[in-house]
Amino acid sequence: MVIDLRSDTVTKPSKAMMDAMMSAEVGDDVFNEDPTVLKLEQKLASMFGHEAGLFCPSGTMTNQIAINVHTKPGDEVICDVNSHIYNYEGGGIAKNSGVQAKLLVGDRGRLKLDQIKDNVNASYDWLTRTSLVELENTVNKAGGSYYTLKDIKDISAFCRASNIKLHLDGARLFNALVETKESAKDHGALFDSISICLSKGLGTPSGSVLLGNTEFIRQSRRVRKVFGGGMRQVGFLAAAGIYALDNNIERLTEDHKRAKQIGESLKKLNYVKAVLPVDTNIVIFDLKDGITAEQFIAKASEKNIKVAAFGKQTIRMVTHLDFTDDMLQRLSEALKTLF
Ligand SMILES: *Cc1c(COP(=O)(O)O)cnc(C)c1O
Repeated sequence: MVIDLRSDTVTKPSKAMMDAMMSAEVGDDVFNEDPTVLKLEQKLASMFGHEAGLFCPSGTMTNQIAINVHTKPGDEVICDVNSHIYNYEGGGIAKNSGVQAKLLVGDRGRLKLDQIKDNVNASYDWLTRTSLVELENTVNKAGGSYYTLKDIKDISAFCRASNIKLHLDGARLFNALVETKESAKDHGALFDSISICLSKGLGTPSGSVLLGNTEFIRQSRRVRKVFGGGMRQVGFLAAAGIYALDNNIERLTEDHKRAKQIGESLKKLNYVKAVLPVDTNIVIFDLKDGITAEQFIAKASEKNIKVAAFGKQTIRMVTHLDFTDDMLQRLSEALKTLF
């Protein structure tokens, strides 16, 4: 049996999730008439204390829509150098919205108020207009590090006072929330918009939801259609999302526990140079000189283990719903004999 740790997106829907999907009541969502989509959007919006939600095919689309609605061409978005919107969305900030990114180097992907303050442009005609700040929680490329409420409160207050919008890429926000035990509503109150992925740790086949106020979501619906994301009887997928919110949030702590155990096993191996702190469900580590990520992946795949390269000598493993204690045991044994 293959142990697939390339991403937490590799999970397949469980029987119970499939049953929920197959019995969904559906309608045409472009006409805003799919009852299951409406239920999912409302459910997530009320969890985070936002007025409205918008179901989209992917987290890339929810982020790109938010950037598009919050900015004008020629504006600037402040984000961390590790951010998904900058690294993994195909240059969409520039391509879709004509916006440039001002990249800051945070603490493992987490920005601080002072550095944001220092990088907001004054309103001279010749300076780029800073219209948006984007945070990511948890930070994928920095190994699943997370923000607490305390880290974000001042940033949020500053953005509001400065008339700058604040967007959260919360692809793995629930991983942060189960770890900090902080409330979704408290986090929701700090942002103008939030993107939540249902297809990561929550385990659905597809879909992300964008949250914001009624006017923001009204504009976002229009942009979603322009971007080609208007779907029809998509309640089948939304039903998976509702099932995931009801059943798969609390169990994320199990993924975190297993990820931490992988981190500990890796530290003992002589071919591993360094392991990033494991805060949630992402494990990132560097290989000793002379071993490339490519070589590691080849050796691992001989043992039916799939992982992802995250640099020339860097590997990422992500734990998820379909990664069991039994697999963890087998993985730990296999890692001992790879090199
Ligand atoms: C996965 C992910 C997204 C969205 O990815 P899609 O594959 O487009 O759904 C956005 N941000 C982060 C941090 C992610 O990890």
